[in-house]
Amino acid sequence: MKDTFRHKGLRKILVESLIEKGIKNSRVLEMINEIPRHQFMDNAFIQFAYQDRAFPIGSGQTISQPYTVAFQTELLDVKPYEKVLEVGTGSGYQAAVLVGLEANVYTIERQKELFQKAKEFLPMIGYNCNFFYGDGYKGLEKFAPFDKIIITCGAPEIPEELIKQLKVGGRMVAPIGSGDVQVMYLIKKISESEISTTTHGEFSFVPMLNNKNYGN
Ligand code: SAH
Repeated sequence: MKDTFRHKGLRKILVESLIEKGIKNSRVLEMINEIPRHQFMDNAFIQFAYQDRAFPIGSGQTISQPYTVAFQTELLDVKPYEKVLEVGTGSGYQAAVLVGLEANVYTIERQKELFQKAKEFLPMIGYNCNFFYGDGYKGLEKFAPFDKIIITCGAPEIPEELIKQLKVGGRMVAPIGSGDVQVMYLIKKISESEISTTTHGEFSFVPMLNNKNYGN
């Protein structure tokens, strides 16, 4: 599907609305302006692609709201060449933002259909990263440690295993909470045994599903 002048115009308006809502990082805003979000969405929702809302992407999951993507990415403070782990590939939109910021991205998805779709689609539009099918709760020990970790589903608590896979000096951005609402946590790894946390408001994510529900 084409990326028309109309789509580009709608993205500009979306970027302006994100600035109004408090997003400041110019590289993050550039990515929202550049990435054709409508191409990540089901046909039925394409006309709404540049509204600042989450939408269904199949398998009972959603593409995150652009504001949420921008907010989490800003908190993550991604630098070129950093190794970044994303839990919850979903549509691949957030992964594309990270790739656009020149990170070396590893992304995990537990829904096979979504994993396969993103793995095929992202390289097609020029965003290359490493795709994994599996349980993000466990991370990717083989490729650890990571400079940054971003969780894009609601985790019931801070996943210990992922803290282990974070570099000292690294940061993790994760929505924590098991109900309908999660609190956005910025977790900094101070030393091998110490973390510091700050909270950054309430958001609503699809739940992070653990091993028990795996494959459902
Ligand atoms: N980052 C995505 C947001 C998708 S919604 C985007 O930009 O579109 C969150 C995703 O997390 C869903 O696709 C869901 O299937 C996935 N998910 C939930 N629990 C998971 C787990 N334990 N491991 C990996 N992915 C998980």
